[in-house]
Amino acid sequence: MFDEVKEVVVAQPKEEAPSTVDTQTLMEVVSQYTKLNPFGTAYVVGVCPFHNSRLRNQTFMINLHKKSYHCRECGKHGDISAFQKAEKNNELTNTQKN
Ligand SMILES: [Zn+2]
Repeated sequence: MFDEVKEVVVAQPKEEAPSTVDTQTLMEVVSQYTKLNPFGTAYVVGVCPFHNSRLRNQTFMINLHKKSYHCRECGKHGDISAFQKAEKNNELTNTQKN
């Protein structure tokens, strides 16, 4: 009985890299870097984590339906995997939370 169970566990595919994309939303990931505020029903906005906004302007916008982000000041845009890539490459320079 117990041996059977063990076999099933071992047989699970291990080749695919564990992905956080399905379990975490873009908003959750970004909110670790900048404070996000609701803007209408489809968007949240915040200070851009990609560029240093001295005026603390909320130029960074996430489209919750498209699950993508865009900064209207520095032009950075992408989806959750692009953001996580930037995270890895230390491109997030402006990561102060309010
Ligand atoms: Zn920006």
